[in-house]
Amino acid sequence: MLCEVCGKESGCIKTILLDGIEMLACEECFSFGVEKEKPREAKKIDFEEKEIRKAGQFDLGLDLKKSFGKAISVARQKQGLTFEELGKKIFEPASLLRRIESESIKPSDKLISKLEKALKIQLKEEQGQ
Ligand SMILES: [Zn+2]
Repeated sequence: MLCEVCGKESGCIKTILLDGIEMLACEECFSFGVEKEKPREAKKIDFEEKEIRKAGQFDLGLDLKKSFGKAISVARQKQGLTFEELGKKIFEPASLLRRIESESIKPSDKLISKLEKALKIQLKEEQGQ
């Protein structure tokens, strides 16, 4: 079956609720939503988790560099910033930045701009080569 979140073929597809919309998700994308079968209160999403989900929403039209996590990591360390310090700079939770650097989620367009500005890097592929 195909994952409706990332579009990948997966043997383990579950129905989740993503922002109230029913979607089929693979194991990797499953954590972005709430499993449908479980009662809502079983998975309490705290504020930070909500922020991560918002920022990590997939924008498949995005022309992010393939190694965006690495690029962010290198630039952040060059400036001597911890996840927490960078997070404070751009008003995002450190755990979100950690997940972006590990490339487990893709940053939103808005977050990309913020990261590019804060780290003085380019995160999108050059257009029209
Ligand atoms: Zn998926």
